[in-house]
Amino acid sequence: MMIVMKEGATEEQVKRVVDRVESVGCSAHVSKGDVLTVIGAIGDRDRVAALGLEGTDGVDHLVPILKPYKLASAQFRKGERTVIDVDGRRVGGDDFALIAGPCTVESRDQTLEVARVVAEHGASMLRGGAYKPRTSPYSFQGLGENGLRYLAEAREETGLGIVTEAVDVETFDLVEHYTDCVQIGARNMQNFSLLRRAGRSRRPILLKRGMSSTLEEFLMAAEYILAEGNYNVILCERGVRTFADHTRNTLDLSVVPAVQSLSHLPIIVDPSHGTGKRDKVLPLSLAAVAVGASGLIVEVHPTPEHALSDGYQTLDPGQFAELTSSCRAVAELLAARHFSGRELH
Ligand code: PEP
Ligand code: MN
Repeated sequence: MMIVMKEGATEEQVKRVVDRVESVGCSAHVSKGDVLTVIGAIGDRDRVAALGLEGTDGVDHLVPILKPYKLASAQFRKGERTVIDVDGRRVGGDDFALIAGPCTVESRDQTLEVARVVAEHGASMLRGGAYKPRTSPYSFQGLGENGLRYLAEAREETGLGIVTEAVDVETFDLVEHYTDCVQIGARNMQNFSLLRRAGRSRRPILLKRGMSSTLEEFLMAAEYILAEGNYNVILCERGVRTFADHTRNTLDLSVVPAVQSLSHLPIIVDPSHGTGKRDKVLPLSLAAVAVGASGLIVEVHPTPEHALSDGYQTLDPGQFAELTSSCRAVAELLAARHFSGRELH
């Protein structure tokens, strides 16, 4: 149930409603918009209804949220879009976030080198896995804490924010300590204990879509994080499994406007895992800008042919430079919205 407070409702009136919602064993999630404050009451709807909150001081009206995801729904923010602040770097709204870096942190030199390159070409954050969810137990599993240290050092030097993956609850604390934004990977999108842990984190979470998950499952995974009190969730489309075999995954760009109509959370696109082919990364990045995504997360390596993982879908520095300038051009074109063809009547 959504409790919409009156314009100008006081902190005390909000607190009184929160206390009453909690007194019947439900949780209360306060969302302060530019004008209105909304309280999401999660739990048994009948109990909330029985409180008779309509008519209470400061309460304007109550609206049931009909979707199974509540806090992630567009309705919960009354149509306002959420902008996530990753320690000063914005994701969502008018900002287009460019996150780039290697699939895996391989060494101190590689990390610093790629950080300098992506910073120079306009990325706001550096990606790179120190703990890798590999299909084979015999593949390189990541450098662990040393990898996290290299990422932190790269932040010190370049000012880039860090995005890195937490693969399990056991190592979450460590990852959270070093990074600015914690990634939950596609394979863990329905790891509910990990999602709950992410929900108790003070770091923003980058949640990747599971490789065979529906939009509703994706938003329900986000709901797990929000329900624990972490409202800073960035969604990421990274391709889904289909019969198509010309790419590693099928990048489902249609999910971007679909998310935007159902949820207030920002969604970015990963064209690297989404296609699995280096030569498809640029065109799909341009398409992601055009479709209205809030950003890109792209794999970049100083020498992709020597990368320890995902080299075949990784850009070299020159290709990344081309990607950023082309994406900018598309963004400017869209902003200008000038159609130079003949006027049609
Ligand atoms: C990654 O970002 O390197 C990664 C493993 O992504 P995904 O979970 O989307 O496969
Ligand atoms: Mn990868």
